[in-house]
Amino acid sequence: MCTKDEVVSPDQAPQLMKGDTEHMASGLKLTIELVPRPCWHSNLHTSMPRATWDHLRRLVYTKYNYHCGICQASNVQMICHEIWQYDDEQHIQKLAGFIALCPMCNHCKHLGLAGTLAAEGKLDFEQVIAHFMRVNQCSREDYEAHEKEAWRLFAERNKHSWTTDLGKYAHLVTQKERTN
Ligand SMILES: [Zn+2]
Repeated sequence: MCTKDEVVSPDQAPQLMKGDTEHMASGLKLTIELVPRPCWHSNLHTSMPRATWDHLRRLVYTKYNYHCGICQASNVQMICHEIWQYDDEQHIQKLAGFIALCPMCNHCKHLGLAGTLAAEGKLDFEQVIAHFMRVNQCSREDYEAHEKEAWRLFAERNKHSWTTDLGKYAHLVTQKERTN
């Protein structure tokens, strides 16, 4: 069970996120983070007991005072986003921390899934783009350039097999449940 509060250090999240977007060289506040296909099933929240995840994400929401860690939106459903760093030489994805996100910032992060939801008529993709542009105070061209780079990186990372490093959060996953 997760009982130690220090397992979550969202204070580090903004710095870590900055580092994570180095590859993008974007300097944008809200970035697209397409999880490489080989890593889709190597996340933390599906590898741990539901109650432990619920405890952890509530700690994150509290730390962020129930505001989105990127756009500061409040009174919205909170999503606990796992921040992964990708080592493109060793092909290791490392869990660096967590950040509370609003649904729209989360859609921007997981743009591929947002596109699928939009195709199913469950989401207005133009609203997602508008949110990205508003938060980043950027142009449509800036958005399109960033999206293109995100998909290029996604395609490149999909060519490799990846090792998952849960870092200091590894103890949250019991041996039985660890699958990678
Ligand atoms: Zn937000």
